[in-house]
Amino acid sequence: MEQGGTIFERIVRRELPADIRYQDEWVTAFRDIHPAAPVHLLVVPNAPIPGAADLGPEHEAMLGRLLRVAADLARAEGIAESGFRLIVNCGGDGGQEVPHLHLHLVGGRPLGPMLQRRS
Ligand code: AMP
Repeated sequence: MEQGGTIFERIVRRELPADIRYQDEWVTAFRDIHPAAPVHLLVVPNAPIPGAADLGPEHEAMLGRLLRVAADLARAEGIAESGFRLIVNCGGDGGQEVPHLHLHLVGGRPLGPMLQRRS
């Protein structure tokens, strides 16, 4: 069996348990283990791309799939009408904890301002 990689790589390969809601040849979506809102899913590429700073032209098709699957899941979770937020954290200042590109889909309550402003 293959070993190693980030937590998300191991979830994609189904070596670690997760509440997987969708998987195809390019992306996998599962519930965040520490949800910040009633709906909190992560959509990740199956390939181990560390983060948004590592993206190139070869990833364009996968990125389209990532966003489209997020929209499908928003509809399936019943938050397409009420609204939701898609978040990609990148690097240290971006607050990225897991070095495997992921799109957060959060919703199910009013989410407030996108960022706290420093006055
Ligand atoms: P980020 O700060 O953008 O890197 O977000 C990482 C997210 O991964 C956090 O919201 C964590 O709660 C979530 N997370 C970490 N480990 C797991 C896991 N094993 N299953 C599901 N979500 C996880």
